[in-house]
Amino acid sequence: MSATHPPIAAAAVQVERVSARAFTVPTDAPEADGTLSWQETSLVLVEASAAGHTGIGYSYTAPPAAALIESKLADAVRELDALAPQAAWQQMRIAIRNVGYPGLAASAISAVDVALWDLKARLLGVSLSSLLGRVRERVPVYGSGGFTTYSAEQMRSQLSGWVQEGITAVKIKVGSEPQRDPERVRHARSVIGEGVRLFVDANGAYTRKQALRLAEVFAQEAGASWFEEPVSSDDLEGLRLLRDRAPAGMDIAAGEYGYDLYYFRHMLDAGAVDVLQADVTRCGGITRLLDVGALCAARGLLLSAHTSPAIHAHVCAAIGPLAHVEYFHDHARIERLLFEGAPALRDGCLCPDAGVAGMGLTLREEEAERYSA
Ligand SMILES: [Mg+2]
Repeated sequence: MSATHPPIAAAAVQVERVSARAFTVPTDAPEADGTLSWQETSLVLVEASAAGHTGIGYSYTAPPAAALIESKLADAVRELDALAPQAAWQQMRIAIRNVGYPGLAASAISAVDVALWDLKARLLGVSLSSLLGRVRERVPVYGSGGFTTYSAEQMRSQLSGWVQEGITAVKIKVGSEPQRDPERVRHARSVIGEGVRLFVDANGAYTRKQALRLAEVFAQEAGASWFEEPVSSDDLEGLRLLRDRAPAGMDIAAGEYGYDLYYFRHMLDAGAVDVLQADVTRCGGITRLLDVGALCAARGLLLSAHTSPAIHAHVCAAIGPLAHVEYFHDHARIERLLFEGAPALRDGCLCPDAGVAGMGLTLREEEAERYSA
């Protein structure tokens, strides 16, 4: 890799400094899905500067990613061409080789990559979506929450709030108590009415046979049209089984744990999903998410972006085969809390502002300090 991707030297505008810090924000209520519960969320923030401008990127990952960025990645990209994030990506990938790429390191690289793209857009004085090449002005989202810890009233309040904001699809978590799931899914449908699409996400909690049975129940009794990770996303044959046998009108989706292109290729080769998911803060940043979009285009499938709505709003404005962006309750809340300039919902869509520089995000330093990890 080093022979084919030598560092680009003597750039006119060089990356001067890359720094990282972590913030941990408590949830506003206990949260759980089919396989995990949590009461806080960590965000690792990267700032990359050149010529008096600073780009921002981040990943929702564990705080040690900040140390990894400062110890391994900052030096790898310093003095590289600030207008060539892809070249920096190659150097980061080399720098991390012996640490191991998937997981924490990929999330760290993703955060730096996003910061470098944001920096490039700021240096050029354009919005990130304009830099990437917008193919749409409005990025459709679906509301995502409906945690298994929620009471019926909490779920009603959250889902109906999204519907009132014009969102036309919502997703709830299932899988922690399978015997309760049909009732919870029917409740979600009763809250949102008939005109809104209903998605469910099991986070890999079900067995194949459970998932097959519940796919029928969720479709017939509540009109669910999206079944995410009905079985483990590592079980590609199981996902394919569900895809082939789920009721017509129900999409099978997975991909949020994809860290590299091979992962997505294998998932697509297996015919495992109707809609591929990917997360810009895990999959290698903007540099790689654009590639994942191309993989989807080559298969005639759509891409759905996993969480991190403030970043995805800009990037997904430039991805042709886009289904939607996940407007995840936790992340939408944290992005409003920590940043000025997070894109607001308008008629159920995020509309990245073409008039801002980069993503238009500014860290609220004083507020963020309270959550310093
Ligand atoms: Mg999910």
